[in-house]
Amino acid sequence: MNTQSAQRIALISFHGDPAVEIGREEAGGQNVYVRNVGEALARLGWQVDMYTRKVSIEQAEIVEHTPGCRTIRFSAGPLEFIPRDNLFEYLPEFIEKFLQFKQENGLSYQIVHTNYWMSGWIGMCLKKVLGCKQIHTYHSLGAVKYATIENIPPIASQRLETECDVLEEAERIVATSPQEKAHMRQLVSTKGDIEIIPCGTDIHSFGSVDRKAARVALGIKADAKVVLYVGRFDHRKGIETLVRAMRESKFYGDEKLQIIIGGGSVPGQSDGIERDRIEGIVDELGLRDCTTFPGRLSQEVLPTYYAAADVCVVPSHYEPFGLVAIEAMASSTPVVASDVGGLQFTVVRGETGLLPQPQNVAEFAIAIDKIISNPEWRDKLGEAGKRRVHDKFSWDGVAKQLSELYLQVIMQPAIKEEQKEQLKVAYSSK
Ligand code: UDP
Repeated sequence: MNTQSAQRIALISFHGDPAVEIGREEAGGQNVYVRNVGEALARLGWQVDMYTRKVSIEQAEIVEHTPGCRTIRFSAGPLEFIPRDNLFEYLPEFIEKFLQFKQENGLSYQIVHTNYWMSGWIGMCLKKVLGCKQIHTYHSLGAVKYATIENIPPIASQRLETECDVLEEAERIVATSPQEKAHMRQLVSTKGDIEIIPCGTDIHSFGSVDRKAARVALGIKADAKVVLYVGRFDHRKGIETLVRAMRESKFYGDEKLQIIIGGGSVPGQSDGIERDRIEGIVDELGLRDCTTFPGRLSQEVLPTYYAAADVCVVPSHYEPFGLVAIEAMASSTPVVASDVGGLQFTVVRGETGLLPQPQNVAEFAIAIDKIISNPEWRDKLGEAGKRRVHDKFSWDGVAKQLSELYLQVIMQPAIKEEQKEQLKVAYSSK
C-alpha cells in the first residue's frame, strides 16, 4: 500500500451479507467471496468496509470481523428476507443510508467494489454523487441465467440493462474466469475493461485433514465409496442429475455406496421445496438407504466432509465460478463437474477431475464410477487438484491481485469512453 488515501475500500454486497451463515437460501458463493476478500485485503493493510442490507431486527448494524474488516448493515425496505428479484425498489433507500453513514463517520472512498448487478447499480449512482471509481464483480450474468430458465422474472429487463451499463461504465470489471469474460463479451457488450481475477479458497482449512481421519470423525467406513454434493438446494444446481446418475451407477445396490447431499434449507421456502423434491426422487429410485442429508454444513465441518469423500460432484446447469469445486480440490478430492462456465477453468479434465455434459445422467454416472472404482487414480487426481488450488486459488493470492488492481485504478486518470474513442482515432491516424 503506498498512499494514505488508498487505504479505505468499500465492498458493496447489497443482497449477499458477508457476515451470515453460508449454505442457506441465497447465501452462497458471493457471501463467501466478499467476506474472504475483505478479510484478506485487511491483512494487506486496507481498511475494509463491507456494506449489505439488514434482513432482521436481531442483526447487528456493525460486525467487526478482524482488525480492519467489518460488515455494516442498513435497513432498506422491510426488515425481512426478500427474494433478490424483488429487491430493486429498495436500492435508493440503501444509497441514502450509505451517504448518511459515510458523512456521519467522516469516511471517504476513492473506490467502491460492487458485487452482483444490484450493487453495480448502487455503484453507478455513487460514482455520480461522490466521483469515486467503480470495480465490479458480477457473480452471475442475467444474459446467461435467463437462457437456462423458463420463467423470466419481471425484473429481467432492468437487470440486463444495468449489467450492460456497468460493463461499459465501471473503471474495471473483475471476471472470475476466462469463460465468464467470454460470456460478457458475447452476450453483454464489447465495450469496457475486464480483468480476470479468480475466486479463492481457504487453503489452510481445506486440506487440513486426511481421508482416513475424516472418515473416523464422521463415522464412515474406511472402504465406503463416498459421493458428496455440497451447495444450495436450487433447481439449477442439478442435484437431480446426481441422484439419477447414482441409479445408473454400477455401484447401485452396493452396500459400500454412500451419497451425502449437504446444504441448508427451510421448509416451505424455495430451498426447502427443492430438498423435498430431491428426497422424493431419492425414494422413488430406491436410494434412500445409501443417501444422507446432513443439512447445512458449517465452514468448520466442511473440510472433514470434503476430505472423507471419494468424489465431489458439482452438477450445476451453469456456474460462473463454483467455489465448491476448488474447496474439494484443496481437500485432495477429485471433482466431477458439469462442463460449463467457471468449472471448465477450475477443473482440469483428466487431471483434477472429469467434466461431463450438464444434465447428462449417463455421462455423470460413467465419470463418477470411473473415479470411485480406481482409488489410485482418485488419489492422483486429488493431489493434482490440491496443487492447482495452492498455485492459483488462495484468498491471499486473489486479494493481492485485487489490491494491485485497486491501486492501479486509483492512479489512472478518469477517461471517459468517448475520450478513449477520440484517442484511438488520433493514434490510428498517425
Ligand atoms: N456452503 C456451506 N455450507 C453448505 C453448503 C454450501 O458453507 O451447507 C458454501 C460452500 O462451501 C461454498 C458456497 O457455500 O463456499 C457455495 O458457493 P458456490 O460458488 O459453489 O455456489 P453458489 O452458492 O454461489 O451458487
